[in-house]
Amino acid sequence: MDPQVARKRLERMLADLDEAQRTLIAEAGDSSMHVARLSQHPADYGTDLSDQEREDAMRRAAQAERHEVLTALGRIDEGSYGRCVVCGAEILDERLDARPDAIRCLEHQREYETTRD
Ligand SMILES: [Zn+2]
Repeated sequence: MDPQVARKRLERMLADLDEAQRTLIAEAGDSSMHVARLSQHPADYGTDLSDQEREDAMRRAAQAERHEVLTALGRIDEGSYGRCVVCGAEILDERLDARPDAIRCLEHQREYETTRD
């Protein structure tokens, strides 16, 4: 994958993530107003708590993805883009094409996904 093409795609992903983040924050603002109204009806409260958990999970996922996009951009600057951060193996072009923010080979990505929290 041409690093310049990858950089453009990563910058685009970053802009999309920031946009999604703004939308989430705006929605979170709406839902806290919603909670304030619902607090007069304690029986409905549980529903809002799970909404909150879902929002937190989405926010965490977006932050993790943003971190990977930034890492991948940093690696373009370093000249190490396209290599696994763990073992240094070249990441397949077709994988980078599907996920320009991939910073691990398939083996280490699987390991990362099964070991994190
Ligand atoms: Zn690896």
